[in-house]
Amino acid sequence: MSTPQHCPGFESFRNLKSFVCKCPKCGAPKEIFSDEFQKPHKCDSCGEPIDFTQCKLEGAS
Ligand SMILES: [Zn+2]
Repeated sequence: MSTPQHCPGFESFRNLKSFVCKCPKCGAPKEIFSDEFQKPHKCDSCGEPIDFTQCKLEGAS
């Protein structure tokens, strides 16, 4: 039997959480991962910049 291959990148990926924030302009949901939280993002629908640091997580209480 051979040892199963491990991909370090995949292992770290499993620790990421995803966030969904709605576009302030058109309301389209945009999903990012936790390692992208500090990066600039734009709405896929209308191109409006979305500030995820100002985003409130829905369903989190
Ligand atoms: Zn939008």
